[in-house]
Amino acid sequence: SIYGDYIKSVIRTVPDWPQAGVNFRDITPLLQNSAAFRKLIDSFVHRYQELEVDAVAAIDARGFIIGAPLAYELGCSFVPVRKKGKLPFKTISETYSLEYGESSVELHSDAFQKGDRIVVMDDLIATGGTMLAAAKLIQRSGGHVVETATIVDLPELGGSEKIRQSGHNVFAVCS
Ligand code: IMP
Repeated sequence: SIYGDYIKSVIRTVPDWPQAGVNFRDITPLLQNSAAFRKLIDSFVHRYQELEVDAVAAIDARGFIIGAPLAYELGCSFVPVRKKGKLPFKTISETYSLEYGESSVELHSDAFQKGDRIVVMDDLIATGGTMLAAAKLIQRSGGHVVETATIVDLPELGGSEKIRQSGHNVFAVCS
């Protein structure tokens, strides 16, 4: 994307966090930088403003930070995809495996209308498990996944490739 190199330059890598051997990509310097944050949101707005998006479905919790201003700018709905046990109404859930154990994401059963065109948003794609589970939830609810979108893709982990093989478009501001 046009601002990819710039956005990449304001993301911090924290070595050995949350555990030894992991390079954590930390977006807080990007969020602190008002010009960078604006360019980030503008990148997504530019990509989706002509695509008749009905809702941005954003993943708990960093996905919310970018999903909400995008929905506001597009003039569409905002739908939270939450970690297990956070949504109060009737939910549907999708469980996916992690390196050790498993995790679940949930969606309210009345979050959108069947056939709605939805962008699924998170801050980062690593193994792709989280994004794919969210996209499956949207599909199970009768939504059409326009694209899965993220700030950072880590292509060497194969997640974005796995998501594409499952039939979804993937847009990343930087890799
Ligand atoms: P995946 O399911 O393996 O693709 O992991 C992606 C999920 O874990 C996203 O919800 C991210 O917020 C989180 N995540 C994994 N690694 C990082 C990182 O280096 N920085 C920020 N978030 C991360």
